[in-house]
Amino acid sequence: MKIEDIYQLYTKHFLVDTDTRTIRKNTIFFALKGDNFNGNAFAIEALNQGASYAIVDEEKYNNHTNIILVDDVLETLQKLSKHHRRVLNIPIIGLTGSNGKTTTKELINAVLSTTYKTTATKGNLNNHIGVPLTLLSMTPKTEIGIVEMGANHKKEIAFLCTICEPDFGYITNFGKAHLEGFGGIEGVIEGKSELYTYLKEHHKVAFINPQDVLQVEKTNNIQTIPFKKDLQFIAVNPFVKLSYHSNIIQSNLIGKYNYTNIAIACTIGLHFKVSDTAIKNGIEDYTPENNRSQIIKKTDNKIILDAYNANPSSMKAALENFDEIKEANKTVILGDMFELGNTSLEEHQNIVDVVEGLHFNNCFFVGENFYQTKTKHLLFKTFEELLSHLKNNPLRHQSILIKGSRGMRLERLLDCIS
Ligand code: ATP
Ligand code: MG
Repeated sequence: MKIEDIYQLYTKHFLVDTDTRTIRKNTIFFALKGDNFNGNAFAIEALNQGASYAIVDEEKYNNHTNIILVDDVLETLQKLSKHHRRVLNIPIIGLTGSNGKTTTKELINAVLSTTYKTTATKGNLNNHIGVPLTLLSMTPKTEIGIVEMGANHKKEIAFLCTICEPDFGYITNFGKAHLEGFGGIEGVIEGKSELYTYLKEHHKVAFINPQDVLQVEKTNNIQTIPFKKDLQFIAVNPFVKLSYHSNIIQSNLIGKYNYTNIAIACTIGLHFKVSDTAIKNGIEDYTPENNRSQIIKKTDNKIILDAYNANPSSMKAALENFDEIKEANKTVILGDMFELGNTSLEEHQNIVDVVEGLHFNNCFFVGENFYQTKTKHLLFKTFEELLSHLKNNPLRHQSILIKGSRGMRLERLLDCIS
């Protein structure tokens, strides 16, 4: 079946899904293959759950009138989303970068949705499947799309750009994330800059932070819109506060790095003619979720939970920011950072050295990588060892920064800190 024909079916309800557990009535089910499952085998189940059609790519599962056989389900999903994007013909803002993509995407959406019907990436659905799903979640009612694009190797952003064809682009930063797949920081810069290459070749526009020398250099041959000059950083105490004209914007975000995330959201809002008041309301109403820099007040302690993810740049930014916050007693609990390839030990040691240069009451490191570093602080090889230490030596009257890679699941500490 041709893409145009599948598109006709899709436009009846604008619903697609790849997971039978979340299927709604009238959805088109795309039977993707993963490492551990073959979606083809769930096609009939999807129809039973209310899907109107199921797209498969194995002949033997083509056993129902509402099952459509294609050469490659993933490719069909990607082509369908690209076709849809072209038909919609709305402005799309594409975001990438090493850190802060989701936060920035949420902030941009918080600002633009005050004034427009927007559709943004849900959660972290930012890869070769998530980007198509994001595009297909847009409907003719959508006025602006905001698409987060993630990558852990080169050519990925270039590919995602060919699907979502952004009119505007923004790179949060070039940082030390997914070093393994990119082959070092130079690879990260090259990989993320594929967004700029796309914008240049298609005469589109990049939003940039004029303070970021590297970004300025990388965009010198394309049209750029820098942060508005009037957006002034005021303070972080611990929440980031900034001013614009005579407005004070008091965010719910901790971490000085969030200033740039907020500033770009304001700049994009202004570009799309969102009023000053709506911009202020949009930013002030946004509170992060999913363990992304949340402040949690317990009976005896205050926790800054940043356990959603970690890599050398976000870890360093979080530590320096925590150091600046004025609190009497500070504790840091840091878990391993993953996907660092052969620089892993060096990067973990760097973080330990950063911590040693700062002033915290207690510092605990947990995980097999940190365990190999040299430090005067306490090292725990496993989460269980850290847990038993904390049970025997409960923390009292501390502000506690908790940060580690997703796989460390450090949010488990919440239950054992009172
Ligand atoms: P992922 O790769 O997991 O999708 P992401 O790029 O979407 O991550 P967020 O989830 O928004 O990033 O933020 C993750 C962490 O990165 C934050 O909790 C914070 O520690 C750090 N961070 C956020 N913004 C920045 C920034 N502009 N510069 C450096 N670090 C940042
Ligand atoms: Mg993200």
